Amino acid sequence: MNTPIAVQPWDATPPKEFVTDGAPTISTEEVSACPVCQCERFVAQATGFDYELRSCRNTWRFVRCEACSHVWLNPRPSISTLGTIYPPHYYAYHYTEKVSPLALKAKNWLDSRKFAGLVKTLGRKPSSFVDIGCGDGRYLRFAEHVGVSKHRDYGLELDESVVRKLCEQGYVGLCERVEDCTAIAERSIDLATMFHVIEHVDDPKAVVQRVARWLSPGGVFAVETPNIASMDARMFGKTYWGGYHIPRHWNMFSPETLKRLLEDAGLEVVGTRYQTGHSFWMYSMHHLTRYHGGSRAGLSRMFDPFGGWPSLPALLAFTAFDKARAAIGGRTSSMLMLARRAD
Ligand SMILES: [Zn+2]
Repeated sequence: MNTPIAVQPWDATPPKEFVTDGAPTISTEEVSACPVCQCERFVAQATGFDYELRSCRNTWRFVRCEACSHVWLNPRPSISTLGTIYPPHYYAYHYTEKVSPLALKAKNWLDSRKFAGLVKTLGRKPSSFVDIGCGDGRYLRFAEHVGVSKHRDYGLELDESVVRKLCEQGYVGLCERVEDCTAIAERSIDLATMFHVIEHVDDPKAVVQRVARWLSPGGVFAVETPNIASMDARMFGKTYWGGYHIPRHWNMFSPETLKRLLEDAGLEVVGTRYQTGHSFWMYSMHHLTRYHGGSRAGLSRMFDPFGGWPSLPALLAFTAFDKARAAIGGRTSSMLMLARRAD
C-alpha cells in the first residue's frame, strides 16, 4: 500500500480479478455537457472501476464542470447495459434479506424519525405524499400513519413485482420514471421524498423540475444523496471513494450544486441535514484494502458493509465518528436537502 493514490490513466488495466472473473467491457455514451449548468468544459476528477460488483472491466471517469464544479460520470454506461451493471444480486433489491432483523428494526426506527422531521419542516400534516424509489414502501406506511389516505400515497419504483405488492396493499404504486409519470397532478403533492436516487438518474434536472411542478404551494421536497464535498470524498476521491458507486452513480453533488439544481426548478432551499456516511467510509476502506498495492482480502472483509460480525466494529466506529461531526456542524458524505415551493 505504498504507491500513492492518484487519478489513474485512461488506459489503466483493471485489477486482475476483473479479468479472471471474465467481466465484460460494456458499451458507453458520452455526456458532453454538464447536467446542472450545460457548460461543455470539464476536467478529469477521478477514474476507477466497478470495485463493488465487478460487473464490467471498463475504466470509468468522473469529470468536474469548469463553470459550476458539478461532477458527473463521463462517459457513462449505455442504457442498454443497465441489466449488466444492476445484476439480479444487486444488494438494493435484496436489502431486507441481507441485513440482520435487529439492523432492520433500527433502520425502521431511524427512518420513522427522519420522516417525522420532514413533516415538522412541512409545518402541517401532509394530505398527499410521494416517495421516488420507494422500495418496499416503508415511507408510504409512515405517511399513512400521519393521515395520508392510501389513494394519495404514491410510490415510484422500477421493479414491477415491488409495485404490484404496493398496489395490492392499496397504495398507488407506479412502475415508471419520474419524467414519464403522468398519474400525479401538478400542485397536488404536499411532501415528496427521493432518498439516494438522484445520483442514479440520467437527467437529474428534468427529474427535479418535474417533482417541483407536482408540489402544492408550501409543499416540501426532500432529496438525499452523497456529498462530494466531504472529508471521505476528499481522502478517497481519486478512485476508491465509496460514494462513487462506480459505474452506478452518474451525478455527484455538493451542497452548492444540489442547491442550484433545486433553485433552478423554482424551489427555495430551507435546510440541509447531514446523515452518517458510514457505508461510504466502509466501501472506501474496503476498496482501498482490497485493490490498492496488492490485495488484502482478509483485511477488506472488516470493511464490507454486508460482512456481518467481522465488520461491525468499523461500522460502529464510522457511524459514531460521523454522528459526532454532524452534531457540531460538520458536512458528512450523506446530505439531506429540504426545499419548499413558495407559491
Ligand atoms: Zn456545470
